[in-house]
Amino acid sequence: MHLPDQPMFLNMAVRIGTDLAPLALLTALKGIESALGRKRGIRWGPRLIDLDILLYEDVVMNDTGLTIPHPRLAERRFALAPLADVAGCCKVHPQTGQTVGDMIKALAEADPIIVMTETLM
Ligand code: ADP
Ligand code: MG
Repeated sequence: MHLPDQPMFLNMAVRIGTDLAPLALLTALKGIESALGRKRGIRWGPRLIDLDILLYEDVVMNDTGLTIPHPRLAERRFALAPLADVAGCCKVHPQTGQTVGDMIKALAEADPIIVMTETLM
């Protein structure tokens, strides 16, 4: 979910290799958000930066403060589309068995995205 009445925002996904366990990775991501100047404001509202863990290998976990896969992944075309670019269409959600492509197809057209094709080097 996100608030519908907010300016457009940019999304991207990266695939990383890390020695950090999931909770340590989340702590590191929050540190980067703070260093970039994120202040905690309205939940799901406009924010300077939002770093989320979408998938972590095939880990399924539900800790206080960290759920993997990301609990709102299947609702967010803006997260699924860039995920498909780095993980492939056929990467499977470890809880539902749906592929990334299945999840995108299951979403209503009501959540449009614009694909930015410029390559960042
Ligand atoms: P969202 O990422 O859903 O837009 P927030 O960035 O406001 O929402 O995140 C709220 C909290 O969600 C974070 O403080 C974090 O503890 C928790 N959280 C739970 N699972 C995850 C995850 N997979 N990735 C990032 N944050 C998560
Ligand atoms: Mg977040």
